[in-house]
Amino acid sequence: MKYPIIAYGDPVLRRVATNIDPVEYPHIKELVENMFETMYAARGVGLAAPQVGLSMRLFVIDASPFDDDEPQLKDFKKAFINAQILEETGEEWPFNEGCLSIPEIREDVYRKPEVRLSYYDENFKHHEETFTGLAARVIQHEYDHIEGKLFTDKLSPLRKRLIQKRLTDISKGEIKVDYRMKFPAVKKGR
Ligand SMILES: [Zn+2]
Repeated sequence: MKYPIIAYGDPVLRRVATNIDPVEYPHIKELVENMFETMYAARGVGLAAPQVGLSMRLFVIDASPFDDDEPQLKDFKKAFINAQILEETGEEWPFNEGCLSIPEIREDVYRKPEVRLSYYDENFKHHEETFTGLAARVIQHEYDHIEGKLFTDKLSPLRKRLIQKRLTDISKGEIKVDYRMKFPAVKKGR
C-alpha cells in the first residue's frame, strides 16, 4: 500500500519522533514494506515515517541508485528503527540533496562523511554500525527527519531567502508532482 507523502509546511515534519515499542507494533514489517513501496513509486532513495504522517523513529533507505559512484551500495536496502547517532566524524563535505517532501528543490548541504549509528532492523535485531560516503549521507538526511529537521534548515540565510517563495508554494500545494502528496491545510477566505 502506498501512502501520500506529506509536504513541506506540515507540523508532523517538525516533531521529534518517538521510539517504537516492538510490543505495540507487531506489524512493523508491513509498515516497512509500505514505506518502501511509497518511496519507490516516488523514485526516492530514502523515506522517513514522519513523511507519511507517522511521528515514529523509522526510516527506510535503498541507496542502490548510487552504485555507479559507490559499487558497494548495490544491495544497500535497509530499514532503521529507533536509530540514534552515536558519533559523526570527519571534515564536512557538500552534496546536492533533495527531499520527497520538498519536490524540485535541490541544494548543496554540508555534512560529515562518517556516522556511527545504533539502530534496530525490521526484525528488532540491534545493530551498531559505522557508515561512510553516500550511505552516511542518506542516513543523516533521513535521521534529520525523525529529529524534526529538514535539509533546508542547513542552508545559508541567503539560500534560504532565495528558495522561500518556492517553499511557500509547496506548502500551498502549488506545485506539480507525479506522486501523491498531502499538503498542509490552506487557509481560505482572506
Ligand atoms: Zn527528506
